[in-house]
Amino acid sequence: MNRATVGCPEHVRRVRVLIAGGGPVGLALAVELGWRGVPCLLLEQGDGRIAYPTAESLNHRTMEHLRRWGIAARLREQGFPPDYPRVVRFVTRVVGYELARFERPSNRAQPAASAAISPEGALWCPKFWLDPVLRARASEFPTNEVRLGWRLERFWPDAAGVWAEAVEVATGRQETIRADYLVGCDGGGSLVRRALGVEYRGRFAEGYNLGVYFRAPTLLAATPLGPASQYFVVNRDGRAIVAAVDGRERWRLTLKVAPGAAERVDVRQALRQALGAELPLEILDVRPWAGHAVVAQRYRVGRVFLAGDAAHLNWPSGGFGMNTGIGDAVDLGWKLAAVCAGWGGDCLLDSYEAERRPVAERNVNEASRHKASDLALPVPPELEEASGAGEQARRALGATIARSRWKEWHTLGIQLGYRYDPSPLCLPDGTPPPSDDPSVYEPTARPGSRAPHAWLPDGRSTLDLFGHGFVLLRLGARPPDVAPLAAAARAAGVPLTVVELAQPAIVELYARRLVLVRPDGHVAWRADELPADPAALIDRVRGAAPAPIAACSEEAPEPVVRQGPWRRPRAR
Ligand SMILES: Cc1cc2nc3c(=O)[nH]c(=O)nc-3n(C[C@H](O)[C@H](O)[C@H](O)COP(=O)(O)OP(=O)(O)OC[C@H]3O[C@@H](n4cnc5c(N)ncnc54)[C@H](O)[C@@H]3O)c2cc1C
Repeated sequence: MNRATVGCPEHVRRVRVLIAGGGPVGLALAVELGWRGVPCLLLEQGDGRIAYPTAESLNHRTMEHLRRWGIAARLREQGFPPDYPRVVRFVTRVVGYELARFERPSNRAQPAASAAISPEGALWCPKFWLDPVLRARASEFPTNEVRLGWRLERFWPDAAGVWAEAVEVATGRQETIRADYLVGCDGGGSLVRRALGVEYRGRFAEGYNLGVYFRAPTLLAATPLGPASQYFVVNRDGRAIVAAVDGRERWRLTLKVAPGAAERVDVRQALRQALGAELPLEILDVRPWAGHAVVAQRYRVGRVFLAGDAAHLNWPSGGFGMNTGIGDAVDLGWKLAAVCAGWGGDCLLDSYEAERRPVAERNVNEASRHKASDLALPVPPELEEASGAGEQARRALGATIARSRWKEWHTLGIQLGYRYDPSPLCLPDGTPPPSDDPSVYEPTARPGSRAPHAWLPDGRSTLDLFGHGFVLLRLGARPPDVAPLAAAARAAGVPLTVVELAQPAIVELYARRLVLVRPDGHVAWRADELPADPAALIDRVRGAAPAPIAACSEEAPEPVVRQGPWRRPRAR
């Protein structure tokens, strides 16, 4: 097989989109593509078991996507105990003194608390509940094939598609695949990214950690402080986080360590120190890891894309990694679907990087700020003394924590306030941008923003109107006739639904008589009147107009083959 190969021999598996990696981001992309009827094949080298669960924190926006895919309610009520409090406690030890706490509702109570801004709420949901539900949903679509135990070995892109070679891990059986597009959702060590020669840029190894996944069936009964989703441990022995994994007996310790020290840590002693008591324990897995703050220099090379950890790595502080990756999958998913359906313009796929890379940079940097503010906490020597001086030290530190650490749990500006601005697809309306503060979300229908949530009289959310194709909202008592815009969409093959909304609160929230919402729920354009040239507007939002932001490039890279073992690129 080489680049000169033409046609597609019978023994070659033909597919529209090949996804490398079946972590949460690859699975989310498979669901998004399946939901849009785009045939895809997902290869996951693992067997689907989660040996070391991470990524418990699903944010509001991710839950809104899961709602559209029909799996949000299932995840909210099953798996992690729905009434377990998601409170975060800063403690001297888990069995010790509480210094400060950040209250957060349980999984079940969160939607009511969020009802003014979202039809969903954030969710605490460890990967071993999320991944199987995503995988089952991805496998339900007749156009999808999800394969466990298969590894992408190498690939050769050309101008018309991508040749790929996959290997069944257990048997060594090989298969040749011809795809229109390849998406590398293959994590931090991404073969796809390395083979393309795309480097991460940013700050490598900002800090080192030792992760310990363990069972402690008596921990909840032993702590006088009450349950928590996370205990942030602050004492003279070191800094650690103990996170609830199943809300009962499984936990994950993250211990800050000095460079090169992870291998020398006595894991049982580290657990004893963080917990503050000798409890029955079973250690299930131990993993040293480094925290990075990096973003891939490119998200697209010809017909190959990067998404999720393959495109960006950040500190877990704030829970941004997987959520950002699922946002990538949603953005890329509708664009691939549009191109496969024939109505996506030549520059639509380039807008993926233009829109998603700045979001990753913002999130990566904010996560590093959280991490830095945590490590800046002072630890006075008398912190654990059972004395007046000890009490005073704990009160003072508690006040510092309340003042300096609250931002990590107030991230609505990251969750819902990210916007595609500037974007080659969205038309600015001249209004000033809302706050860019990561902790602030100002609902707005300004182009580039997520179209805001409001409840409809029938109990649905405005967000439930969006997803399939574009939606043109006609707002208020006498909105303009939109027949010319609908005709322009029809002529370009763009699916467009017109929806009338007259509720005063929604009219005020959306602030214009016409609002055009993209398939991913972001506003592309709004105005009080139709534009003079509706066809030009449609061409712009479908990526067929000259892109003012990103250059349009269909160049095919040179053939790429599997490279040697991954080495962390040097920081630049
Ligand atoms: C301690 C910790 C806590 C975290 N908490 C959160 C959180 O609360 N919220 C959050 O959003 N994020 C969190 N994260 C980050 C989150 O875990 C990652 O961002 C997320 O897992 C990335 O998903 P992914 O699908 O891109 O990559 P991965 O989860 O790494 O999945 C990549 C998959 O690709 C497969 N693969 C690799 N190469 C190949 C190949 N050649 N062929 C086939 N398959 C391949 C791998 O087996 C793997 O299953 C946390 C991270 C850590 C370390």
